Amino acid sequence: MALRLFNTLSGKIEEFSPIEGREVRMYACGPTVYDYGHIGNFRTFVAVDVLRRFLLHSGYKLRHAMNITDVDDKIIRNSAQAGVSVREYTRKYEQAFLEDIRTLNIEQPEFVVRATDHVQEMADFIAALEKKGFAYRTEDGSYYFRIAKFPGYGKLSKKDFAGMEDGARVDVDEYDKDNARDFALWKAPKPGEAFWETAIGAGRPGWHIECSVMSMKLLGDTFDIHAGGEDLVFPHHENEIAQSEAQTGKPFARLWFHVRFLLVEGQKMSKSLGNFFTLRDLVLKGYKPSSIRFLLASGHYRTQLNFTFEALKQAANSVERLRNFELRLKTTQFPDRAAGAMAELAGATSRALRAALEDDLNTPQALAAVFEMVRQANAGADAGQLGSGDVPRLLAALREFDAIFAVLADDDADKVRGVVEWATREGRAEQVAPQLAASDLFADEQVEQRVTAMERARKARDFKASDAIRAELAAAGIVVENTREGVRWKRK
Ligand code: AMP
Ligand code: ZN
Repeated sequence: MALRLFNTLSGKIEEFSPIEGREVRMYACGPTVYDYGHIGNFRTFVAVDVLRRFLLHSGYKLRHAMNITDVDDKIIRNSAQAGVSVREYTRKYEQAFLEDIRTLNIEQPEFVVRATDHVQEMADFIAALEKKGFAYRTEDGSYYFRIAKFPGYGKLSKKDFAGMEDGARVDVDEYDKDNARDFALWKAPKPGEAFWETAIGAGRPGWHIECSVMSMKLLGDTFDIHAGGEDLVFPHHENEIAQSEAQTGKPFARLWFHVRFLLVEGQKMSKSLGNFFTLRDLVLKGYKPSSIRFLLASGHYRTQLNFTFEALKQAANSVERLRNFELRLKTTQFPDRAAGAMAELAGATSRALRAALEDDLNTPQALAAVFEMVRQANAGADAGQLGSGDVPRLLAALREFDAIFAVLADDDADKVRGVVEWATREGRAEQVAPQLAASDLFADEQVEQRVTAMERARKARDFKASDAIRAELAAAGIVVENTREGVRWKRK
Protein backbone atom coordinates (compact mmCIF):
# COMPACT_ATOMS: atom_id res chain seq x y z
CA MET A 1 0.00 0.00 0.00
CA ALA A 2 1.04 3.55 -0.55
CA LEU A 3 0.57 6.62 1.58
CA ARG A 4 -2.72 8.38 1.05
CA LEU A 5 -3.29 11.91 2.30
CA PHE A 6 -6.13 14.37 2.23
CA ASN A 7 -5.45 17.33 -0.06
CA THR A 8 -7.31 20.55 0.78
CA LEU A 9 -6.82 21.73 -2.79
CA SER A 10 -8.59 18.78 -4.44
CA GLY A 11 -10.87 18.17 -1.46
CA LYS A 12 -10.03 14.46 -1.71
CA ILE A 13 -7.81 11.79 -0.28
CA GLU A 14 -5.05 11.13 -2.81
CA GLU A 15 -2.24 8.70 -3.21
CA PHE A 16 0.96 10.54 -2.42
CA SER A 17 4.04 10.39 -4.58
CA PRO A 18 6.76 13.01 -4.82
CA ILE A 19 7.45 14.91 -8.03
CA GLU A 20 11.04 13.75 -8.13
CA GLY A 21 12.20 10.28 -7.17
CA ARG A 22 12.29 9.59 -3.45
CA GLU A 23 12.78 13.17 -2.29
CA VAL A 24 9.86 15.00 -0.68
CA ARG A 25 9.95 18.78 -0.81
CA MET A 26 7.76 20.13 1.95
CA TYR A 27 7.11 23.57 3.37
CA ALA A 28 5.34 24.19 6.66
CA CYS A 29 4.42 27.65 7.87
CA GLY A 30 6.38 28.35 11.03
CA PRO A 31 5.77 30.50 14.07
CA THR A 32 5.33 34.23 14.35
CA VAL A 33 7.88 34.95 17.02
CA TYR A 34 6.23 37.62 19.13
CA ASP A 35 5.48 35.38 22.13
CA TYR A 36 6.01 31.85 23.46
CA GLY A 37 4.34 29.08 21.44
CA HIS A 38 1.03 27.75 22.77
CA ILE A 39 -0.19 24.17 22.73
CA GLY A 40 -2.45 24.89 19.75
CA ASN A 41 0.60 25.88 17.70
CA PHE A 42 2.34 22.73 18.85
CA ARG A 43 -0.58 20.56 17.84
CA THR A 44 0.10 21.66 14.28
CA PHE A 45 3.88 21.30 14.58
CA VAL A 46 3.55 17.81 16.11
CA ALA A 47 1.18 16.74 13.31
CA VAL A 48 3.67 17.96 10.70
CA ASP A 49 6.41 16.12 12.59
CA VAL A 50 4.39 12.90 12.50
CA LEU A 51 4.03 13.35 8.74
CA ARG A 52 7.73 14.10 8.40
CA ARG A 53 8.78 11.10 10.48
CA PHE A 54 6.45 8.77 8.66
CA LEU A 55 7.78 9.90 5.29
CA LEU A 56 11.34 9.29 6.49
CA HIS A 57 10.32 5.95 7.93
CA SER A 58 8.76 5.04 4.58
CA GLY A 59 12.13 5.53 2.89
CA TYR A 60 11.78 9.06 1.53
CA LYS A 61 14.41 11.74 1.83
CA LEU A 62 13.19 15.08 3.08
CA ARG A 63 13.82 18.60 1.98
CA HIS A 64 11.63 20.32 4.55
CA ALA A 65 11.60 24.08 5.06
CA MET A 66 9.99 26.23 7.73
CA ASN A 67 9.89 30.00 8.04
CA ILE A 68 10.26 32.10 11.11
CA THR A 69 7.99 35.12 10.78
CA ASP A 70 10.10 37.73 12.50
CA VAL A 71 8.41 40.83 11.17
CA ASP A 72 4.67 41.57 11.13
CA ASP A 73 2.17 44.07 12.52
CA LYS A 74 2.18 42.62 16.04
CA ILE A 75 5.95 42.32 16.21
CA ILE A 76 6.44 45.90 15.09
CA ARG A 77 3.92 47.13 17.64
CA ASN A 78 5.25 45.04 20.53
CA SER A 79 8.92 45.77 19.89
CA ALA A 80 8.20 49.50 19.63
CA GLN A 81 6.33 49.32 22.95
CA ALA A 82 9.20 47.43 24.53
CA GLY A 83 11.64 49.99 23.13
CA VAL A 84 13.87 47.39 21.45
CA SER A 85 14.66 46.59 17.83
CA VAL A 86 12.58 44.06 15.94
CA ARG A 87 15.62 41.81 15.84
CA GLU A 88 16.27 41.93 19.56
CA TYR A 89 12.60 41.41 20.29
CA THR A 90 12.16 38.38 18.04
CA ARG A 91 15.42 36.51 18.70
CA LYS A 92 14.37 35.64 22.21
CA TYR A 93 11.13 34.02 21.03
CA GLU A 94 12.80 32.35 18.08
CA GLN A 95 15.29 30.75 20.47
CA ALA A 96 12.45 29.72 22.77
CA PHE A 97 10.58 28.16 19.87
CA LEU A 98 13.59 26.09 18.82
CA GLU A 99 13.99 24.93 22.43
CA ASP A 100 10.30 24.07 22.62
CA ILE A 101 10.37 21.90 19.53
CA ARG A 102 13.29 19.99 21.04
CA THR A 103 11.29 19.59 24.24
CA LEU A 104 8.55 17.94 22.20
CA ASN A 105 10.94 15.78 20.12
CA ILE A 106 9.87 17.63 17.00
CA GLU A 107 12.66 17.19 14.48
CA GLN A 108 14.10 20.41 13.17
CA PRO A 109 13.39 20.81 9.44
CA GLU A 110 16.35 20.84 7.06
CA PHE A 111 15.82 24.58 6.52
CA VAL A 112 14.67 27.07 9.12
CA VAL A 113 14.70 30.51 7.55
CA ARG A 114 13.89 34.01 8.75
CA ALA A 115 11.72 36.42 6.85
CA THR A 116 14.02 39.33 7.68
CA ASP A 117 16.92 37.57 5.92
CA HIS A 118 14.97 37.59 2.63
CA VAL A 119 13.57 41.09 2.39
CA GLN A 120 15.51 42.06 -0.75
CA GLU A 121 14.35 38.89 -2.52
CA MET A 122 10.77 39.71 -1.55
CA ALA A 123 11.12 43.19 -3.01
CA ASP A 124 12.46 41.71 -6.26
CA PHE A 125 9.57 39.25 -6.37
CA ILE A 126 7.07 42.08 -5.96
CA ALA A 127 8.81 44.11 -8.68
CA ALA A 128 8.41 41.15 -11.05
CA LEU A 129 4.72 40.81 -10.14
CA GLU A 130 4.23 44.50 -10.87
CA LYS A 131 5.84 44.11 -14.27
CA LYS A 132 3.37 41.35 -15.10
CA GLY A 133 0.45 43.51 -13.97
CA PHE A 134 -0.37 41.45 -10.85
CA ALA A 135 0.79 44.09 -8.42
CA TYR A 136 0.33 47.81 -8.18
CA ARG A 137 1.79 50.58 -6.14
CA THR A 138 -0.32 53.03 -4.16
CA GLU A 139 0.45 56.65 -3.45
CA ASP A 140 2.11 56.05 -0.11
CA GLY A 141 4.56 53.51 -1.61
CA SER A 142 2.77 50.30 -0.56
CA TYR A 143 2.15 47.46 -3.02
CA TYR A 144 -0.95 45.34 -3.40
CA PHE A 145 -1.79 42.15 -5.26
CA ARG A 146 -4.58 42.57 -7.80
CA ILE A 147 -6.74 39.50 -7.24
CA ALA A 148 -9.11 40.29 -10.13
CA LYS A 149 -6.24 39.41 -12.44
CA PHE A 150 -5.80 35.93 -10.98
CA PRO A 151 -8.79 33.78 -12.01
CA GLY A 152 -7.86 30.89 -9.71
CA TYR A 153 -8.34 33.02 -6.61
CA GLY A 154 -10.45 31.03 -4.14
CA LYS A 155 -9.55 27.56 -5.41
CA LEU A 156 -7.97 26.42 -2.16
CA SER A 157 -10.53 27.82 0.27
CA LYS A 158 -13.38 26.98 -2.14
CA LYS A 159 -14.73 30.46 -1.83
CA ASP A 160 -16.61 32.02 -4.66
CA PHE A 161 -15.43 35.54 -5.12
CA ALA A 162 -17.48 36.29 -8.24
CA GLY A 163 -18.54 39.89 -8.33
CA MET A 164 -15.82 41.06 -6.03
CA GLU A 165 -14.97 44.65 -6.15
CA ASP A 166 -11.84 45.35 -8.17
CA GLY A 167 -9.40 47.49 -6.27
CA ALA A 168 -10.89 47.12 -2.79
CA ARG A 169 -7.89 46.82 -0.50
CA VAL A 170 -6.83 45.56 2.85
CA ASP A 171 -3.46 46.19 4.41
CA VAL A 172 -3.55 44.06 7.53
CA ASP A 173 -2.18 40.53 7.65
CA GLU A 174 -5.40 39.02 8.94
CA TYR A 175 -8.63 39.99 7.28
CA ASP A 176 -12.27 39.23 6.93
CA LYS A 177 -12.61 35.55 6.14
CA ASP A 178 -15.43 35.95 3.61
CA ASN A 179 -14.33 38.94 1.69
CA ALA A 180 -11.75 39.05 -1.01
CA ARG A 181 -9.65 42.15 -1.12
CA ASP A 182 -6.47 43.12 -2.83
CA PHE A 183 -3.96 42.30 -0.17
CA ALA A 184 -0.76 44.05 0.84
CA LEU A 185 2.48 42.69 -0.58
CA TRP A 186 4.56 45.51 0.78
CA LYS A 187 3.84 48.18 3.35
CA ALA A 188 5.27 51.64 3.26
CA PRO A 189 6.81 52.62 6.60
CA LYS A 190 4.79 54.53 9.14
CA PRO A 191 6.62 56.97 11.42
CA GLY A 192 8.74 55.17 13.99
CA GLU A 193 8.33 51.73 12.38
CA ALA A 194 11.05 49.38 11.24
CA PHE A 195 11.64 49.37 7.46
CA TRP A 196 14.12 48.24 4.79
CA GLU A 197 15.49 50.15 1.80
CA THR A 198 14.97 48.09 -1.36
CA ALA A 199 14.63 48.28 -5.14
CA ILE A 200 10.90 49.00 -4.78
CA GLY A 201 11.39 51.65 -2.12
CA ALA A 202 11.37 51.71 1.65
CA GLY A 203 9.05 49.50 3.65
CA ARG A 204 8.49 45.99 4.89
CA PRO A 205 7.01 42.83 3.40
CA GLY A 206 3.50 41.57 4.05
CA TRP A 207 3.13 38.20 5.75
CA HIS A 208 1.97 36.21 2.71
CA ILE A 209 4.84 37.15 0.41
CA GLU A 210 7.44 35.72 2.79
CA CYS A 211 6.21 32.20 2.47
CA SER A 212 5.96 32.36 -1.34
CA VAL A 213 9.49 33.69 -1.67
CA MET A 214 11.19 31.42 0.84
CA SER A 215 9.41 28.23 -0.17
CA MET A 216 10.16 28.70 -3.86
CA LYS A 217 13.74 29.68 -3.18
CA LEU A 218 14.41 26.51 -1.20
CA LEU A 219 12.07 24.03 -2.87
CA GLY A 220 11.53 25.23 -6.45
CA ASP A 221 8.52 26.68 -8.27
CA THR A 222 6.46 23.53 -7.75
CA PHE A 223 6.92 21.32 -4.73
CA ASP A 224 5.19 18.41 -3.01
CA ILE A 225 3.55 19.43 0.26
CA HIS A 226 2.60 22.68 1.92
CA ALA A 227 1.39 22.45 5.52
CA GLY A 228 -0.08 24.58 8.29
CA GLY A 229 -2.98 24.94 10.69
CA GLU A 230 -6.53 25.16 9.31
CA ASP A 231 -6.75 28.89 10.00
CA LEU A 232 -4.12 29.49 7.32
CA VAL A 233 -6.22 28.19 4.40
CA PHE A 234 -7.70 31.62 3.91
CA PRO A 235 -6.31 34.16 3.39
CA HIS A 236 -2.68 33.13 3.93
CA HIS A 237 -2.40 30.06 1.72
CA GLU A 238 -4.87 31.31 -0.86
CA ASN A 239 -2.68 34.39 -1.20
CA GLU A 240 0.52 32.38 -1.40
CA ILE A 241 -0.94 30.43 -4.32
CA ALA A 242 -2.02 33.63 -6.09
CA GLN A 243 1.38 35.30 -5.71
CA SER A 244 3.42 32.25 -6.69
CA GLU A 245 1.34 31.02 -9.60
CA ALA A 246 0.97 34.54 -10.98
CA GLN A 247 4.75 34.76 -10.93
CA THR A 248 5.63 31.41 -12.51
CA GLY A 249 2.53 30.34 -14.42
CA LYS A 250 3.10 26.89 -12.85
CA PRO A 251 1.30 25.06 -10.06
CA PHE A 252 2.70 25.99 -6.64
CA ALA A 253 2.36 23.25 -3.99
CA ARG A 254 0.70 20.01 -5.07
CA LEU A 255 -0.70 18.78 -1.78
CA TRP A 256 -2.05 21.04 0.95
CA PHE A 257 -1.98 19.52 4.41
CA HIS A 258 -4.05 21.34 7.05
CA VAL A 259 -4.30 20.50 10.72
CA ARG A 260 -7.53 21.22 12.56
CA PHE A 261 -7.52 23.33 15.67
CA LEU A 262 -6.88 22.37 19.23
CA LEU A 263 -9.57 23.43 21.70
CA VAL A 264 -9.21 23.54 25.46
CA GLU A 265 -12.05 21.95 27.43
CA GLY A 266 -14.19 22.37 24.32
CA GLN A 267 -13.48 26.07 23.87
CA LYS A 268 -11.28 28.21 21.73
CA MET A 269 -8.14 29.06 23.63
CA SER A 270 -8.03 32.63 24.80
CA LYS A 271 -6.19 34.59 27.42
CA SER A 272 -9.39 36.12 28.74
CA LEU A 273 -10.99 32.70 29.33
CA GLY A 274 -7.94 31.61 31.30
CA ASN A 275 -7.61 28.49 29.15
CA PHE A 276 -4.56 29.63 27.22
CA PHE A 277 -1.45 27.52 27.79
CA THR A 278 2.02 27.72 26.41
CA LEU A 279 4.09 24.55 26.33
CA ARG A 280 6.16 26.06 29.13
CA ASP A 281 3.08 26.64 31.28
CA LEU A 282 2.24 22.95 31.15
CA VAL A 283 5.77 21.78 31.86
CA LEU A 284 5.94 24.09 34.86
CA LYS A 285 2.67 22.66 36.11
CA GLY A 286 4.52 19.33 36.26
CA TYR A 287 3.26 17.67 33.07
CA LYS A 288 5.87 15.69 31.19
CA PRO A 289 6.86 16.69 27.67
CA SER A 290 6.29 13.08 26.55
CA SER A 291 2.68 13.16 27.82
CA ILE A 292 2.06 16.42 25.98
CA ARG A 293 3.52 15.09 22.75
CA PHE A 294 1.54 11.87 23.08
CA LEU A 295 -1.71 13.74 23.62
CA LEU A 296 -1.08 16.10 20.70
CA ALA A 297 -0.26 13.18 18.38
CA SER A 298 -3.05 10.91 19.54
CA GLY A 299 -5.96 12.59 17.76
CA HIS A 300 -6.40 12.42 14.01
CA TYR A 301 -5.01 15.61 12.51
CA ARG A 302 -8.22 16.25 10.59
CA THR A 303 -10.46 16.30 13.64
CA GLN A 304 -10.42 18.98 16.30
CA LEU A 305 -8.43 17.99 19.34
CA ASN A 306 -10.08 18.72 22.63
CA PHE A 307 -7.33 19.29 25.14
CA THR A 308 -8.28 18.51 28.75
CA PHE A 309 -6.17 17.92 31.83
CA GLU A 310 -7.93 14.61 32.26
CA ALA A 311 -6.74 13.56 28.80
CA LEU A 312 -3.25 14.75 29.62
CA LYS A 313 -3.16 12.52 32.69
CA GLN A 314 -4.38 9.59 30.61
CA ALA A 315 -1.65 10.33 28.08
CA ALA A 316 0.91 10.12 30.89
CA ASN A 317 -0.47 6.70 31.86
CA SER A 318 -0.36 5.52 28.26
CA VAL A 319 3.28 6.50 27.89
CA GLU A 320 4.09 4.87 31.22
CA ARG A 321 2.41 1.68 30.09
CA LEU A 322 4.53 1.55 26.94
CA ARG A 323 7.76 2.31 28.80
CA ASN A 324 7.02 -0.35 31.40
CA PHE A 325 6.35 -2.87 28.69
CA GLU A 326 9.65 -2.04 27.00
CA LEU A 327 11.44 -2.30 30.33
CA ARG A 328 9.84 -5.65 31.01
CA LEU A 329 11.02 -6.97 27.65
CA LYS A 330 14.53 -5.71 28.26
CA THR A 331 14.97 -6.86 31.83
CA THR A 332 13.12 -10.18 32.09
CA GLN A 333 14.74 -13.56 31.54
CA PHE A 334 12.08 -15.18 29.33
CA PRO A 335 12.06 -18.97 28.68
CA ASP A 336 14.54 -19.90 26.00
CA ARG A 337 12.33 -20.51 22.98
CA ALA A 338 12.28 -19.73 19.27
CA ALA A 339 9.98 -16.99 17.97
CA GLY A 340 6.33 -18.01 18.11
CA ALA A 341 2.86 -16.53 18.37
CA MET A 342 4.07 -13.40 20.17
CA ALA A 343 6.54 -12.66 17.39
CA GLU A 344 3.72 -13.05 14.91
CA LEU A 345 1.69 -10.61 16.96
CA ALA A 346 4.58 -8.15 16.74
CA GLY A 347 4.77 -8.51 12.96
CA ALA A 348 1.02 -8.04 12.58
CA THR A 349 1.22 -4.95 14.78
CA SER A 350 3.94 -3.39 12.62
CA ARG A 351 1.83 -3.99 9.56
CA ALA A 352 -1.28 -2.54 11.23
CA LEU A 353 0.70 0.48 12.39
CA ARG A 354 1.93 1.18 8.88
CA ALA A 355 -1.48 0.57 7.32
CA ALA A 356 -3.11 3.01 9.75
CA LEU A 357 -0.56 5.72 9.06
CA GLU A 358 -0.72 5.17 5.32
CA ASP A 359 -4.45 5.76 5.63
CA ASP A 360 -4.22 9.58 5.89
CA LEU A 361 -2.06 9.38 9.04
CA ASN A 362 -4.63 7.68 11.20
CA THR A 363 -2.74 7.99 14.48
CA PRO A 364 -5.60 6.83 16.76
CA GLN A 365 -5.82 3.58 14.84
CA ALA A 366 -2.05 3.14 14.89
CA LEU A 367 -2.06 3.61 18.66
CA ALA A 368 -4.92 1.14 19.07
CA ALA A 369 -2.84 -1.52 17.32
CA VAL A 370 0.19 -0.89 19.53
CA PHE A 371 -1.79 -0.96 22.77
CA GLU A 372 -3.48 -4.16 21.72
CA MET A 373 -0.04 -5.70 21.22
CA VAL A 374 1.05 -4.54 24.66
CA ARG A 375 -2.10 -5.98 26.24
CA GLN A 376 -1.73 -9.36 24.55
CA ALA A 377 2.02 -9.61 25.05
CA ASN A 378 1.74 -8.74 28.74
CA ALA A 379 -0.95 -11.37 29.14
CA GLY A 380 1.22 -13.81 27.18
CA ALA A 381 4.20 -13.08 29.41
CA ASP A 382 2.08 -13.60 32.55
CA ALA A 383 0.94 -16.95 31.18
CA GLY A 384 4.48 -18.07 30.27
CA GLN A 385 3.75 -17.89 26.54
CA LEU A 386 6.37 -15.32 25.72
CA GLY A 387 9.76 -16.78 24.82
CA SER A 388 13.19 -15.25 24.36
CA GLY A 389 12.84 -15.52 20.58
CA ASP A 390 9.80 -13.24 20.63
CA VAL A 391 11.53 -10.41 22.44
CA PRO A 392 13.56 -8.89 19.56
CA ARG A 393 10.46 -8.88 17.37
CA LEU A 394 8.34 -7.12 19.99
CA LEU A 395 11.09 -4.60 20.60
CA ALA A 396 11.34 -3.98 16.87
CA ALA A 397 7.61 -3.21 16.71
CA LEU A 398 8.01 -0.77 19.59
CA ARG A 399 10.94 0.90 17.84
CA GLU A 400 8.87 1.29 14.74
CA PHE A 401 6.10 2.90 16.75
CA ASP A 402 8.58 5.23 18.40
CA ALA A 403 10.18 6.30 15.14
CA ILE A 404 6.92 8.18 14.59
CA PHE A 405 5.54 8.89 18.06
CA ALA A 406 8.88 9.55 19.82
CA VAL A 407 7.79 9.18 23.45
CA LEU A 408 9.66 6.13 24.76
CA ALA A 409 12.99 7.69 25.75
CA ASP A 410 12.85 8.43 29.46
CA ASP A 411 14.35 11.91 29.16
CA ASP A 412 11.56 14.08 30.55
CA ALA A 413 13.56 15.17 33.57
CA ASP A 414 16.35 16.59 31.38
CA LYS A 415 13.89 18.52 29.30
CA VAL A 416 12.06 19.86 32.33
CA ARG A 417 15.39 21.04 33.72
CA GLY A 418 15.82 23.36 30.73
CA VAL A 419 12.39 24.88 31.26
CA VAL A 420 12.98 25.29 34.97
CA GLU A 421 16.28 27.07 34.31
CA TRP A 422 14.43 29.43 32.02
CA ALA A 423 11.70 30.07 34.62
CA THR A 424 14.38 30.79 37.19
CA ARG A 425 16.07 33.31 34.90
CA GLU A 426 12.70 34.93 34.24
CA GLY A 427 12.00 35.19 37.94
CA ARG A 428 9.00 32.89 37.76
CA ALA A 429 10.41 30.06 39.82
CA GLU A 430 8.67 31.01 43.07
CA GLN A 431 5.28 30.92 41.49
CA VAL A 432 5.71 27.46 40.00
CA ALA A 433 7.44 25.73 42.90
CA PRO A 434 4.35 24.27 44.61
CA GLN A 435 3.02 22.67 41.43
CA LEU A 436 6.38 21.26 40.46
CA ALA A 437 7.04 19.93 43.92
CA ALA A 438 3.73 18.07 43.85
CA SER A 439 4.31 16.56 40.42
CA ASP A 440 5.63 13.10 39.58
CA LEU A 441 8.80 14.69 38.29
CA PHE A 442 9.79 15.59 41.83
CA ALA A 443 8.61 12.47 43.62
CA ASP A 444 11.06 11.31 46.34
CA GLU A 445 12.65 8.70 44.15
CA GLN A 446 13.29 11.22 41.37
CA VAL A 447 14.75 13.70 43.83
CA GLU A 448 17.08 11.00 45.24
CA GLN A 449 18.36 10.31 41.74
CA ARG A 450 19.04 13.95 41.09
CA VAL A 451 20.79 14.48 44.41
CA THR A 452 23.05 11.53 43.62
CA ALA A 453 23.78 12.94 40.17
CA MET A 454 24.52 16.32 41.73
CA GLU A 455 27.02 14.77 44.15
CA ARG A 456 28.66 12.84 41.35
CA ALA A 457 29.04 16.05 39.33
CA ARG A 458 30.44 17.93 42.33
CA LYS A 459 33.02 15.23 43.04
CA ALA A 460 34.06 15.33 39.39
CA ARG A 461 34.47 19.11 39.87
CA ASP A 462 31.80 19.75 37.22
CA PHE A 463 30.30 22.63 39.17
CA LYS A 464 28.26 23.89 36.27
CA ALA A 465 26.35 20.61 36.17
CA SER A 466 25.97 20.34 39.94
CA ASP A 467 24.76 23.94 40.20
CA ALA A 468 22.22 23.33 37.45
CA ILE A 469 20.73 20.41 39.33
CA ARG A 470 20.74 22.37 42.57
CA ALA A 471 18.88 25.21 40.85
CA GLU A 472 16.35 22.84 39.37
CA LEU A 473 15.64 21.26 42.74
CA ALA A 474 15.44 24.71 44.32
CA ALA A 475 12.79 25.63 41.76
CA ALA A 476 10.62 22.87 43.18
CA GLY A 477 11.32 24.08 46.71
CA ILE A 478 13.85 21.37 47.52
CA VAL A 479 16.95 22.34 49.47
CA VAL A 480 20.09 20.27 49.49
CA GLU A 481 22.41 20.61 52.47
CA ASN A 482 25.86 19.28 53.15
CA THR A 483 26.00 17.84 56.65
CA ARG A 484 28.71 15.94 58.44
CA GLU A 485 26.88 12.72 57.61
CA GLY A 486 26.80 13.61 53.90
CA VAL A 487 24.22 15.32 51.69
CA ARG A 488 20.64 15.63 52.89
CA TRP A 489 17.65 17.10 51.13
CA LYS A 490 14.33 18.41 52.35
CA ARG A 491 11.25 20.13 51.06
CA LYS A 492 10.64 23.71 52.07
P1 AMP B 1 1.40 31.46 14.38
O1 AMP B 1 2.60 31.49 15.27
O2 AMP B 1 0.20 32.13 14.95
O3 AMP B 1 1.73 31.97 12.99
O4 AMP B 1 0.97 29.93 14.22
C1 AMP B 1 1.85 28.87 14.00
C2 AMP B 1 1.06 27.63 13.57
O5 AMP B 1 0.15 27.20 14.59
C3 AMP B 1 0.21 27.85 12.32
O6 AMP B 1 0.33 26.72 11.47
C4 AMP B 1 -1.20 27.95 12.88
O7 AMP B 1 -2.16 27.57 11.93
C5 AMP B 1 -1.14 26.99 14.03
N1 AMP B 1 -2.17 27.19 15.09
C6 AMP B 1 -2.48 28.35 15.73
N2 AMP B 1 -3.45 28.14 16.66
C7 AMP B 1 -3.75 26.82 16.63
C8 AMP B 1 -4.66 25.96 17.35
N3 AMP B 1 -5.45 26.41 18.34
N4 AMP B 1 -4.68 24.64 17.03
C9 AMP B 1 -3.88 24.15 16.05
N5 AMP B 1 -2.99 24.90 15.35
C10 AMP B 1 -2.92 26.21 15.62
ZN1 ZN C 1 3.14 30.76 5.58
